[in-house]
Amino acid sequence: METQEPVDYIIVGQGLAGTLLAHFLLLENQQVRVIDFPLPGRTTGIAAGIVNPVTGRRIAKSWRFEELTAFAKQTYREIEAMLGIEIWHDRQIVRALHNNFEESEWLRRSAFPDFAAYMGDEPDMRSFEGKIHPAHAWGELFQCAQVALPELIESYREHFVQQSIFFEEIFDYQQVGFENGRVGYGQWLAKKIIFCEGAKAVENPSFNKLPFIVTKGELLLVRIPGADFDKILKHHLFLVPLKNDLYWAGSTSRFEFDDMFPTESVREWLIGELEKTLSVPFEVVAHHAGVRPTVADLRPFLGLHPTHPELGIFNGLGTKGASLGPFFAKQMSDFLVGKGILDADVDIARFEQPQKPGGHFFKLNHPD
Ligand SMILES: Cc1cc2nc3c(=O)[nH]c(=O)nc-3n(C[C@H](O)[C@H](O)[C@H](O)COP(=O)(O)OP(=O)(O)OC[C@H]3O[C@@H](n4cnc5c(N)ncnc54)[C@H](O)[C@@H]3O)c2cc1C
Repeated sequence: METQEPVDYIIVGQGLAGTLLAHFLLLENQQVRVIDFPLPGRTTGIAAGIVNPVTGRRIAKSWRFEELTAFAKQTYREIEAMLGIEIWHDRQIVRALHNNFEESEWLRRSAFPDFAAYMGDEPDMRSFEGKIHPAHAWGELFQCAQVALPELIESYREHFVQQSIFFEEIFDYQQVGFENGRVGYGQWLAKKIIFCEGAKAVENPSFNKLPFIVTKGELLLVRIPGADFDKILKHHLFLVPLKNDLYWAGSTSRFEFDDMFPTESVREWLIGELEKTLSVPFEVVAHHAGVRPTVADLRPFLGLHPTHPELGIFNGLGTKGASLGPFFAKQMSDFLVGKGILDADVDIARFEQPQKPGGHFFKLNHPD
């Protein structure tokens, strides 16, 4: 242990969570090391990055939308300026309403004061004319965005590499050691190791008792020559404009799956949904799968291990990493450097059950 280099934080995983946490810790002048290996199932590199004020069939308002989105936009803009990239795109969403019930629900919701600023019922559909199949009616969502998450983590990885703080390797949980309130791993002796492994956290012996309910998602990247859609379309699936003629088309959400790879049957299903949506030809360019770190109570996981506070977690961004990520990465960073506390509804302490024999909801399996 004597030869180990002292550092402040080791971050395991460089998806959206690990990248944003490192971003804020570095702004606090902390010494950070980032370990990541591109494992199957990782999600940030294939996500659409949609930021949506109102989601789902029930047309529900996204949790803490205003404050989370304002902070997210500000953070992504700062990262854009720092790395010289473009990642935040303001984009409206037009949503097909497939029957009378969906239409009347839409009109009913959009009359609520909380929803009125985000919902409209007369979208300008000019860029879609003659290129998509009709729907019963259309609604429009305002104040939405698309965040180029793959570009964000790729550019940030290059930045970490240039700073010599990035290490491409699989983290081996068995190599963790504890010494005088610090934690040793490989060549480092850190104040803390913070795990940001996305859905792979279910294999982490220290945090795998947390109630993850991970979901597999598959999508296609398609070329639609000359489509020139200026908004995100939600018809039989989401079609998100990327660049030139390239579009993100997806996705699925499955709780039960055998592996983390793309499957032929889902590819066929996605193509079928695209054919129901588009009336012009398209070409499939790629097919990807990822596993979302979704959780039982739909709130992120932030905090420290109950018996080994040298270990922490920032995870559970679920289906909404693009909007949740920046705000809670900053909250986790502030908490770690002693500048703030964690909100009770995201702190993993919410799962502790010390009154039960045996202690905590999640147990430490590392040898002391
Ligand atoms: C199909 C699909 C569509 C989505 N669309 C949206 C959307 O429109 N809007 C939105 O906000 N969110 C969306 N999401 C969700 C979004 O992708 C996640 O919220 C977010 O990207 C999760 O980031 P993460 O860093 O927690 O996990 P990940 O991106 O999976 O990153 C974890 C990283 O840790 C690495 N890792 C894990 N274990 C180890 C280990 N032992 N050693 C080394 N490295 C390790 C992994 O390889 C990976 O690189 C979508 C997800 C999917 C699957």
